[in-house]
Amino acid sequence: MKKLTNTVYLLESGKFVNMYVIVHGKSAVIIDKGTPGKANSILDELAAIKVKPCDIEAVIITHAHPDHAGSSAALLARLYARLHVHRDELGILLGKEPLPRPRYFMEKLSVFVTTHVWKYTPPAEAVALDETSVIPGFPGLKIIHTPGHTPGSLSVLDTESGTLFCGDALNNRAGNLTGPLKYFTVDQEQAWRSVEKISTLTFDALCPGHGTWIAEGAQQRVKTLAAGRQHRRG
Ligand SMILES: [Zn+2]
Repeated sequence: MKKLTNTVYLLESGKFVNMYVIVHGKSAVIIDKGTPGKANSILDELAAIKVKPCDIEAVIITHAHPDHAGSSAALLARLYARLHVHRDELGILLGKEPLPRPRYFMEKLSVFVTTHVWKYTPPAEAVALDETSVIPGFPGLKIIHTPGHTPGSLSVLDTESGTLFCGDALNNRAGNLTGPLKYFTVDQEQAWRSVEKISTLTFDALCPGHGTWIAEGAQQRVKTLAAGRQHRRG
């Protein structure tokens, strides 16, 4: 567990995918849950900062890719909290609809790994979110629909700490802030419109699904990224 700010922690057992916890007093929200098999290590990490399973108010999934939603069923069985996902991705998360059709080899590979290696077990139920939704006990969290990487990709804006959790709408690997990875993104143009949308939000820190977080000045960096893309298109 790594403390990023007074209220935001990074769960380090995610390894290549970032999972975050926001803690307000005795209440906590988990954002993304990593690959399958992480439920025990997530709870161990939370125990280290004295967050008990009954303190978790909600679990929010930025999108239904199994490296972000993989431990859904196993973790929920240990919590009182409900799972939350954007309404456009509810059917995929619950295993009632397929992941958007793979176009690239890397996407096909990820579907193979999900099905045959990780053996993803969908959760039985989840709460469908939209931009009007309020997370119980956390009125300062705003749900922002940022589709493109997947149809129901969402970002979570923590207005109290000025932190944006963007899932895979943005990447910051090796300090290089980029848009979503082409090989795993369903609609590239829509994804870049979401980058532009993110650039209009008010935040200072950025917590992406992969790579390192940006502690300050993140909104300006996203603005620069979006402007560069527009410039190349124009
Ligand atoms: Zn993804």
